[in-house]
Amino acid sequence: MQSRWQDQDAANFRQDPVALRAYTSRLLGAEPALVQHGGGNTSVKVEHTNLFGENESILYVKGSGWDLATIQPQGFAPVKMDVLLKMARLQKLSDKDMVQAQKAAMINPSAPAPSVEAILHAIIPFRYVDHTHSDAVVTLTNTPDGEAHARQVFGPRVLVLPYIMPGFILARQVFEHTRDLNWANYDGIVLLHHGIFTFHDDARVAYENMLKLVTRAEDFLRERKATEVRRATPTIKPGAAELAALRKNLGGLMGQPLLMKLNSSPEAVGFSSWDRAEATAARGTVTPDHVIHIKPRPMLVDASEDRGVAKFAESYRAYFEKHRAAEHKELDRCPRWAIWPGAGTLSIGTTAKSIRIVEDITRHTIACLQAGDALGGWQPVTEAELFEVEYWELEQAKLKVIGGSRPALQGRVAVVTGAASGIGRAIAEDLRAQGAAVAALDLNASVTETFSGDQSLGLVCDVTSEASIQSALQAVAEKFGGLDILVTNAGTFPPGRHIADLSESDWTNTLNVNLSGHWRVIKAAIPLLKQGFDPSIIVVGSKNVPAPGPGAAAYSASKAGLTQLARVAALELAPFGVRVNTIHPDAVFDTGIWSEEVIANRAKHYGLSVQDYKTKNLLKTEITSKNVAQLVTAMVGPAFSKTTGAQIPIDGGNDRVI
Ligand code: ZN
Repeated sequence: MQSRWQDQDAANFRQDPVALRAYTSRLLGAEPALVQHGGGNTSVKVEHTNLFGENESILYVKGSGWDLATIQPQGFAPVKMDVLLKMARLQKLSDKDMVQAQKAAMINPSAPAPSVEAILHAIIPFRYVDHTHSDAVVTLTNTPDGEAHARQVFGPRVLVLPYIMPGFILARQVFEHTRDLNWANYDGIVLLHHGIFTFHDDARVAYENMLKLVTRAEDFLRERKATEVRRATPTIKPGAAELAALRKNLGGLMGQPLLMKLNSSPEAVGFSSWDRAEATAARGTVTPDHVIHIKPRPMLVDASEDRGVAKFAESYRAYFEKHRAAEHKELDRCPRWAIWPGAGTLSIGTTAKSIRIVEDITRHTIACLQAGDALGGWQPVTEAELFEVEYWELEQAKLKVIGGSRPALQGRVAVVTGAASGIGRAIAEDLRAQGAAVAALDLNASVTETFSGDQSLGLVCDVTSEASIQSALQAVAEKFGGLDILVTNAGTFPPGRHIADLSESDWTNTLNVNLSGHWRVIKAAIPLLKQGFDPSIIVVGSKNVPAPGPGAAAYSASKAGLTQLARVAALELAPFGVRVNTIHPDAVFDTGIWSEEVIANRAKHYGLSVQDYKTKNLLKTEITSKNVAQLVTAMVGPAFSKTTGAQIPIDGGNDRVI
């Protein structure tokens, strides 16, 4: 592991120890092998003069909710050292009281809550303290000879301590072990199954000592050939409907809609094909704090009808019953990751963010498990110790922060066709803003850039090709697990021509996109929607259906046919709980079809000003693509949960439609 320290960058922070602390914290955070989603924390001790002219020693320790990779000075909680040191001397202290006392000892009440490892940082008598849950360090201790490995690798200048649950009792243990210690003889502390501390009065030395010690652990793993992981290409490729059925089943355990992502990287597939993968992973997580994100063990996807879902739920129930105390309330029984032999791994969660966390943690986990196995067997903390952390109130509080308040469409998956621009894009953006995972499909490749990241998927798709639609839906199922909301919007608006002047190709092309295209998309989506959460289809029709105009025969006929298709779909899909509703927008001018010039010409044609032309409806109001999007969002939500087969105009009121 190479030092990322840059003198030039560090010079910017020389004057401010907290800013320098933030800088080297970010350097640590830049190494995913050191810190994973909340694993690891750092601190600096600063002398300052308070309002009353008194000198105080303050510990600036990482605040909860901040990530080391991006932390800024305001991400550190300033806590009075004398209070922390007094707390370390207590024989007993509940974690709840500890958290409260730490908060009360902050000199800035609006700073984030201090890390639960704050007392531990206070005990270590150096200005800078760095703590990580390094993959390599934890892995070599997660083995039958873990302690011996640690002593051999790190030598006499590193204190090796047995595992104990984080929180006050850990701080207390370190206090007891170090009260008579000559700290000058030590560069670090290794906590078995947990992580490593380094410390120094110089920020750079503390940081680089961390890298030095971790590198020794990495070298040890490499020498023992423990860094080699299995790689393979998939021998099984789960189909979209198969994935959707599994997601639906898991949703029953989660008690809410969820996302599920297939990881078929060579490493994931290689691991999944290892005959001892599940048995090894079932022994426990890399560090105990991972348990709150990925549960104590993964699910094994098997050949049974429910793919192993009920079996996992039963094993979780038994685990809870075995370790519970009276005050514990069982969490959901839904796995957060699964091993699908020959196919790869699955990440499971209610939000795109939680999927990302699971995916990151399991990617490291599968390498650590194989390394531990190569070193004589994977042996992390005991199941009882994992339970203690999973049901520790302070860990549960962390999850609540990540979860936040729940957006209306959280955990649901939407597909919007024709989403590169105009109404389709506005719909896709609005659904995403309401928490849905959104796949945006379009012929225009720009959609792949507009819709990217964890919660979006932009796909080039041609609705005149069944193969193109199938491959898009497969990609959606692999990234999000299934489909709940289909907004079938892709359409074409041919130039105005009277029937007498309409060519054969104008006619057939328009019908092929505006009618048959929707049929192809709906048909392909039905198997997925049948496994959806509150599934529904929104068909984007047109005012031309109830109120056609001259010069748009192909367009009006295709949209009228489409409306009839939607009505039949409502009849056919009702038994499966799939709702099908149609919207009829009119005069939505903020879309690609309507340039300023075209609008001006049309207005002139009617002898109207542009403004009067845009608001040529009963309510005298302008209709935007955002208005249409908000209607769609409402219609896929609970307000319309008892409505199917409806046609809703969004046109400002039209006397021909009314
Ligand atoms: Zn830790």
